[in-house]
Amino acid sequence: METNNNYSCAIIGGGLAGLSLAIQLADAGVEVILFEKKTYPFHKVCGEYISMESWNFITALGIPLAELNVPIINTVGISSEKGFMLNATLPLGGFGISRHTLDFKLYEVAKQKGICIRENCNVLNVIQLDSNSYRIETSQGYYTSNIVCGTYGKYTPQFIHSKKQKQHNKENYIGVKYHIKTDLPTDRIELHNFSGGYCGISKVDLDAYCMCYLVNSIQLNNAQNDIKKMEENVLFKNPFLKKHFTQAEFLFKEPLVISNVTFRKKSTYRNGIFLLGDAAGSVTPLCGNGMSMALRASHIFAQLLASFSKGNISKEVFIRTYQNAWEQQFDTRIMIGYYLQGLFGKKNLTDMSLKVLHQFPSITKKIIQQTHGNPF
Ligand SMILES: Cc1cc2nc3c(=O)[nH]c(=O)nc-3n(C[C@H](O)[C@H](O)[C@H](O)COP(=O)(O)OP(=O)(O)OC[C@H]3O[C@@H](n4cnc5c(N)ncnc54)[C@H](O)[C@@H]3O)c2cc1C
Repeated sequence: METNNNYSCAIIGGGLAGLSLAIQLADAGVEVILFEKKTYPFHKVCGEYISMESWNFITALGIPLAELNVPIINTVGISSEKGFMLNATLPLGGFGISRHTLDFKLYEVAKQKGICIRENCNVLNVIQLDSNSYRIETSQGYYTSNIVCGTYGKYTPQFIHSKKQKQHNKENYIGVKYHIKTDLPTDRIELHNFSGGYCGISKVDLDAYCMCYLVNSIQLNNAQNDIKKMEENVLFKNPFLKKHFTQAEFLFKEPLVISNVTFRKKSTYRNGIFLLGDAAGSVTPLCGNGMSMALRASHIFAQLLASFSKGNISKEVFIRTYQNAWEQQFDTRIMIGYYLQGLFGKKNLTDMSLKVLHQFPSITKKIIQQTHGNPF
């Protein structure tokens, strides 16, 4: 299977970073191709709470959020395994939308703009031909492109030769997601802690709530890789979670599960490929902001690519400016998420931290503000 198509920009991965980038580049007149290994629409493991910072941007991309009747979320409850609940308002807040809906709507906008989207198409390798040309080898043939963007999400493919990171078992997580019907107010997100993890619940579209948790892989090993058993042994120790699990109506036959989830900064440029979204680095879901980071990175990148295409900046300046802008926007959030995650999922420490924060609402507000960016 040999194809001879040449594009200005090739995008590997059609999640939020990839689809939003494709749309912006098409609007700027860049000839773009996007490869997605799955077929739209599909569900993804994600808490599905998006911070308000992305509202204007998503709307500008062509998705009329105001008309979709998505729930606006502006209060949070954080519980400890011991049964304490910290309540707070979310200064900027967010909204709930399932990835099934959001990614599909972006895909539809992209298709309407005539963007070439190769679905069910796995990118297998990228080979640099010269300083300005790359060959992308996929399950559907070969393509060439002047710029290549990796928006493939949290799992780094083999063709990206990243520096080997030392991975500790205690930093290796499993993500599990359900859609349920439960009785939480629609303007509220709850985060429930348990030993080795935490679970978020909030309303999305589709007349459903998203219930998504992250748990240390050690807990699953302890339960002989049996998710149900782990939930009963570990998650049910939090009385709030036990109530949701035992009283909710579950809308999926089976949970959606991902493994080997880690949270860290990676790189914005590797092997000649620009990296965006989780591919460049991911924040703990605790901050509820990975989606906004992916969208914002695409916004930053699209503007720089426009400058580069017009010859206003060299490739070296492009690479450096993108890296600096990325670090300026996201380094603090990733770090705060990392440290906050350290306070979570530990029975006594979490309980104590929540009780202290309960006494100091202004500190709670400051911490929450640090995890959300400004609208763009
Ligand atoms: C448990 C959990 C809960 C979360 N909850 C929230 C939350 O509530 N709010 C929030 O803002 N963020 C949350 N996040 C983070 C958020 O899901 C991610 O930050 C966001 O999806 C990143 O978008 P992306 O476009 O970089 O990657 P993705 O959305 O993962 O998209 C990557 C795409 O690339 C495709 N792909 C991968 N490899 C290839 C290949 N070789 N060829 C072709 N296609 C490929 C994949 O199929 C996928 O569709 C959560 C994450 C986890 C793990």
